[in-house]
Amino acid sequence: MSVLKLYTYPDKILSTPCEEVKKITAETRKLLDDMLETMYADKGVGLAAPQIGLSLKMIVVDDKVGENGEAGPHPMKMVNPEIIEKSSETIFFNEGCLSLPGQCAEVERHAAIKVKYQDENGKEHILEASDYLAVILQHEIDHLSGILYIDHLSRLKRNMIIKKLQKQAQE
Ligand SMILES: [Zn+2]
Repeated sequence: MSVLKLYTYPDKILSTPCEEVKKITAETRKLLDDMLETMYADKGVGLAAPQIGLSLKMIVVDDKVGENGEAGPHPMKMVNPEIIEKSSETIFFNEGCLSLPGQCAEVERHAAIKVKYQDENGKEHILEASDYLAVILQHEIDHLSGILYIDHLSRLKRNMIIKKLQKQAQE
């Protein structure tokens, strides 16, 4: 496994909608493993393929990552994930993103969702998730449509974060 380069805002790949994975191969499985390793190396709880420069519908998620990036008991690798049901009830969560380093903001999300996806062997599953896991999944699946968490904020808050990122980049 290897740690891959992370793409950060304002790289265009982050705002480009991803293509479906048509065939799951050994290469797909290696990429998913590399994505997990990259996520743990950066102490993240989720990572989407555009963040490593690939416009493909693949995400990895681990809602039980340890403080120093240790893997939890059930890391998830998802190919072609899709939200098929969402609760009308919403929750607010303080979200960050490895592609917008050092920044975070409160985002409103559905409190519970159902996600349809394929595992690394192409088998289809449906996962019901709520609270923290539901938030991570919505964040990562958004990435596959070219949407970042800051796109859910007011224009004022969004611009504040973008300004901070630009300042950071100059330093
Ligand atoms: Zn993100």
